Amino acid sequence: MNESTIKQALSAVNYPGFSRDIVSFGLVQGVDVDDGRVRVTIVLTTADDTVPSRIKSSIEETLGSLDGVRSVDVDMQVSAPKGAAPGGSQGKPQQNRIPGVRWTIAIASGKGGVGKSTIAVNLACALEQELAAQGQSERVGLLDCDIYGPSVPLMMGVNGRPEVADEQIIPLTNFGVRVMSMGLLVDEDAPVVWRGPMVSSAITQFARNVKWDPLELLVVDLPPGTGDAQLSLVQTIAMDGAVIITTPQAAAVNVASRGARMFGKVNVPLLGVIENMSYLENAEGKRQYLFGQGGGARTAQELDTRLLGEIPLDPMLREGSDAGVPITVAQPQSPAAERFFAIARDILATLGGNR
Ligand code: ADP
Repeated sequence: MNESTIKQALSAVNYPGFSRDIVSFGLVQGVDVDDGRVRVTIVLTTADDTVPSRIKSSIEETLGSLDGVRSVDVDMQVSAPKGAAPGGSQGKPQQNRIPGVRWTIAIASGKGGVGKSTIAVNLACALEQELAAQGQSERVGLLDCDIYGPSVPLMMGVNGRPEVADEQIIPLTNFGVRVMSMGLLVDEDAPVVWRGPMVSSAITQFARNVKWDPLELLVVDLPPGTGDAQLSLVQTIAMDGAVIITTPQAAAVNVASRGARMFGKVNVPLLGVIENMSYLENAEGKRQYLFGQGGGARTAQELDTRLLGEIPLDPMLREGSDAGVPITVAQPQSPAAERFFAIARDILATLGGNR
């Protein structure tokens, strides 16, 4: 029994909700072994206060079952993430805020096709369920700014023209989430030609003229990419934080990092990175990393932020989107859905921690 056998055993302890272990995440700061008494020091940054206790009990369980271990002492050193929303509404120019909305978060990606809208939709549904469990139902909104390919209405199962009352557009509601998309206002068959400046002014106008009030949290699905349209959007709607979506491969990491720097320029704090399409898991639990491994963690490291979660490739995710019932509603117990709930709790804790 020595430090290296303990470290080896610790590399079987996964970070809650992740496919990676706590050693490769760099959380194990020290291991001391003295006559069968083991002391492990873990240094961890998280906003989710369930994570430290879950890691601690997995370590105790794993090490406790080793031959020759008489006692296990886990020293958890936990700090809150930096870079999260400084003071929420207090920290931002008041005129840029959407009236009646407490927190606004952007979901962004460097390029299309990485699952940004899928994640925005599932995250919004997960956030709504988490808030509803705390007695605050219908307090989440989802604004689809992806005007080039508005897929949110389809994924959320809403259609029909929104009504207007008192000069405000009434969002459509499904699964407790208030949904608004330009896709609901323009004719599917009529081609819409948008140019950069038009996009941002149209969306900003539009976002303000929706009856969101009262919302705890508005999730904004940004158009993919990092051009002028995105930049002026994040400048004209005050955002409390941004979540970057990437896939695991190196090329995507570079694009995501470049995209995320845009938020730095306009002082929008990064809440973290979500890696999508991380792996495919078969019925026996064996994982295939089709697009490589570690892209999300690398992006997070490069941007000095956190990896919020890894979402597996799952045909049910796509089917849910196509059917207009997101997996977080249709199959809330599924492994993919559980990832979304964990991320939702993390985001709420981060925003709430800065109240
Ligand atoms: P983006 O908004 O980045 O362009 P979408 O959310 O539209 O991407 O996703 C692109 C396609 O990939 C959609 O058909 C979607 O259902 C599918 N998809 C996204 N994430 C996953 C996943 N984790 N597993 C399976 N299919 C996915």
